[in-house]
Amino acid sequence: MTPFGKAWLAICVVSLIAALPPRDSVALPPRGSVASPPKDPVASPIRDTAEGQSDRYRTRMRLQMGSFTEITVPAADYTHRAVSRAFDAVEALDRLLSTYRPESEVSRLAAAGRLAVSPEVLEITALAIRMARATGGAFNPALGPVIQLWRDAEARQVPPSPAELARARRSTDYERVLLQTEPDIIAFAEPGMALNFGAIGKGYALDKAAEVLLAEGIDSAMLASGGSSHRLLGHPLERPCWEMAIRHPEAPDRLVAFLLVGAGGMATSAQSGKQRVIQGRTYGHIIDARTGRPADPETPIWSATVWAPDAATADALATALIVMEAARGLELIETRAESEALIVRRAPDGSPFLQSTSGIVRRGELDDLPLYVLVQETRCLGDSGAGDSSRLVGSPIARLGQNLRSGRPASDPPS
Ligand code: AMP
Ligand code: MG
Repeated sequence: MTPFGKAWLAICVVSLIAALPPRDSVALPPRGSVASPPKDPVASPIRDTAEGQSDRYRTRMRLQMGSFTEITVPAADYTHRAVSRAFDAVEALDRLLSTYRPESEVSRLAAAGRLAVSPEVLEITALAIRMARATGGAFNPALGPVIQLWRDAEARQVPPSPAELARARRSTDYERVLLQTEPDIIAFAEPGMALNFGAIGKGYALDKAAEVLLAEGIDSAMLASGGSSHRLLGHPLERPCWEMAIRHPEAPDRLVAFLLVGAGGMATSAQSGKQRVIQGRTYGHIIDARTGRPADPETPIWSATVWAPDAATADALATALIVMEAARGLELIETRAESEALIVRRAPDGSPFLQSTSGIVRRGELDDLPLYVLVQETRCLGDSGAGDSSRLVGSPIARLGQNLRSGRPASDPPS
């Protein structure tokens, strides 16, 4: 690692320790030719550093949206200005979208019920409503009042009463979010409504950061937020495909699969990712709008990873799958020509059981784990090196579902 990289990592670790309560440290699994990663998966680069990689790639991280944004680009393409501007794009969105910032447009809209908004806020709201319709409301950006109720419940350590839940649920109809252009205005048709982009904002922010990199002439990059949302540009150096690793939903020191993909967005969701503890009982952070309660923690889908052309779509769909029954969820993604999913279910003996849509196929094994490939990226399928672990070295490997069970407090980035 360069002296700059070391200094940067030190700053990250210090700011993280200042910002977050202590967590259990977790050892990542060593892999043959992969250097031993540091112990804490959040306060460290979230990807293993393959030997020689640091000469060829530059990675920078910034604490944003309650998690780390991480941008990796080939060293030859790297400019400080381009990557700084990409981080700035994420920062700007967090200031607009965060429900933890009273001055954000999303917070002011919730307070006023009607607001002239920035073009990005109008855009993400329109996109989120389309995703809500596409998922039959499993993904619902109008769940703000219910999410706030659970946050308050955690703060006061008393679960919400059925009456409180019923009241909050009355104001969660995404069809009652009214959009107007020129001038750009969002208005709620119902009092008490509030938007929450926790399930799509990270992906959307990475898409915007990727646009900045492209405009700066960088067309190969891996952008990540919180280890659960990724946007991949182009392909890695001398490799046709990006190499992703899917974590075990409840044991962050274990992996369940590798996945080779091309450019696009990827996101992983799981109920175990972030949890609230109220009076000693654990509640998942993903809400089923039909009940206002966390989707059943015994949900048949343990973790859901979605690939889509952009990260915002992948992020919204991954969250939706956690709410949906597994077969219906896979069917939904199957009907979307441009999206694919790889889900992990819990077998009766407690072991992980993987299922994918038809666009993701299993191509052998790697380090005793199944290796999946996105078929529409034909370059990954061909001479991909499947089954030859020595070839899976030299490009960044992302571990999806990074922050699952990391002990993070419940938070709703980008907030
Ligand atoms: P993710 O980590 O992308 O799955 O997003 C989960 C976050 O989105 C939660 O922490 C909430 O802030 C918010 N959220 C919870 N349930 C839903 C839902 N059914 N639809 C949309 N957003 C949700
Ligand atoms: Mg999501």
